[in-house]
Amino acid sequence: MENDKNLKNWLTDFHLTHPLVIAGPCSAETEDQVLKIAHELKNSDVSIFRAGIWKPRTRPGGFEGVGAIGLKWLQKAKAETGLLMAVEVANAAHVKLALEHDIDVLWIGARTTVNPFAVQEIADALRGTHKIVLLKNPVNPDLSLWIGGLERLYQANIQKLGVIHRGFSTYEKTKYRNNPEWQIAIDFQNRFPDLPLICDPSHITGKRDMIQEVSQQALDLNYDGLIIETHIDPDNAWSDVAQQVTPSVLKQILIDLRVRKITDDADEFTQKMTKLRTQIDDYDRKILEILGNRMQIADQIGWLKKEKNVAILQNKRWNEILEKMIQDGTQKGLSEEFVVHLFKAIHQESISHQEIIMNK
Ligand code: PEP
Ligand code: MN
Repeated sequence: MENDKNLKNWLTDFHLTHPLVIAGPCSAETEDQVLKIAHELKNSDVSIFRAGIWKPRTRPGGFEGVGAIGLKWLQKAKAETGLLMAVEVANAAHVKLALEHDIDVLWIGARTTVNPFAVQEIADALRGTHKIVLLKNPVNPDLSLWIGGLERLYQANIQKLGVIHRGFSTYEKTKYRNNPEWQIAIDFQNRFPDLPLICDPSHITGKRDMIQEVSQQALDLNYDGLIIETHIDPDNAWSDVAQQVTPSVLKQILIDLRVRKITDDADEFTQKMTKLRTQIDDYDRKILEILGNRMQIADQIGWLKKEKNVAILQNKRWNEILEKMIQDGTQKGLSEEFVVHLFKAIHQESISHQEIIMNK
């Protein structure tokens, strides 16, 4: 499929504009809510209306979606607004119901992409249909699992394919709900330049005030579209409260976005630079996050030392660390001088933290 040049054709077949915008609530809640949001979004830059009907929840007890009744509301919304309708499917039964209700776009959620059995079941249920299918990245940062899912769909002869980048889970808290790991999406894009790539800033950020920034980053990286959770009353949404925006905020986000020209020579340079700078920014952010976490551990050591009345500076341990780091660092192409400089600065910061603790 890497040589197939027609994978973006469905965008033009459906007269979908650049960037493609998919919007709608995290979950369909009531008929009234679905219809109100859909009406607010018609005659805008939004071409596809999204709403979750079956909601995969991390823990039991949350709102698990309204189920098949929601498909009727979407049919009504489609008839009244002309928007294409999209739902998440996680098994063959969902696919069957979505097809019966003439849903246009089926997306496979991040928790489903991790499971090859489930993706295969969905691919088989879709064989012979002409639906648009969008595959979210798996929750874990595994490029081949994402590609494997895509191959299963492609082998089932599903031609109107696209992928959604929604970020990846991390155990450590970061400023994102799901770490974007732009590098993975860039690798994906380099491998499948003709496959529509859509960014999901809602699930990446988990916070409505970061959606603009991440959407812009995606467009700067030449993504084909955005999927943005939009709710008439975000603060009272039944799921994903913090990340949904109102239709009017969405319109403002779209007005404020700088849409890049798709290609010209000068643009190619800019795009390459943007990709590289995004990777540098990603690493810089990770370096700071790791240093912050390291310092928290140093603080805990400080409290232990205070409790046991042990001296802050432990020369033997420090010399061992430094030696090990010089060895590892030089193997990675870093100069000894730089490694020593860096670790002296880190060590000094830990000592200052521990001194504060000792004097408390
Ligand atoms: C969703 O789009 O509402 C959703 C559940 O997303 P994800 O699969 O990315 O968590
Ligand atoms: Mn959601």
